[in-house]
Amino acid sequence: MAYSYDAQNIFAKILRGEIPSAPVLETEHSLAFNDINPQAPVHVLVIPKGPYVCYDHFAMEASEAEIVDFTRAVGEICKMTGVQPGEGGNGFRLIANAGPDGVQEVPHLHVHVLGGRVLGRMLPPAG
Ligand code: 5GP
Repeated sequence: MAYSYDAQNIFAKILRGEIPSAPVLETEHSLAFNDINPQAPVHVLVIPKGPYVCYDHFAMEASEAEIVDFTRAVGEICKMTGVQPGEGGNGFRLIANAGPDGVQEVPHLHVHVLGGRVLGRMLPPAG
C-alpha cells in the first residue's frame, strides 16, 4: 500500500507558514525547529520540506538531493547544539518514530535530535 500524505498535518502547516515556528535551521530541502514539548535540554525536530510520511517513505522516494540535504541538516543541528561527541559534546540520540507501533504522532517525517542530559537506555526490556 502506497503512502498517502495528509497535507493538513501540523508540520505541513508549519512549512506553509500557517502555524508559527521558530526555525533554528532552514536549508533548501529541510527545516529544523525546537520541539514544543521538549523531552531533554536539546530537543530539535528536523523535517524534510517534501511530503513524506515517515522515514522509510523518505528513504525510498526522496531524491538524492533531498536525502543529502536532510542528512546534512541533522549533522548541522548536532554541531549547532554542541552535542557532537567527536567535538567535545556529550552525545545525542536520533529518533524517527513511524506508524502505530512507533507511536508517531505527526504524519510528516521528523527526526528528533535529543541531548543535553543522559538519556537512559533506549527501551525497557521486552515484556
Ligand atoms: P512523534 O511522536 O510524531 O515522533 O513526535 C511529534 C513531536 O512533535 C512531539 O515531540 C511533539 O511535542 C511535537 N509537536 C507537535 N506539535 C508541534 C508544534 O506545533 N510545534 C512544535 N514545535 N512541535 C510540535
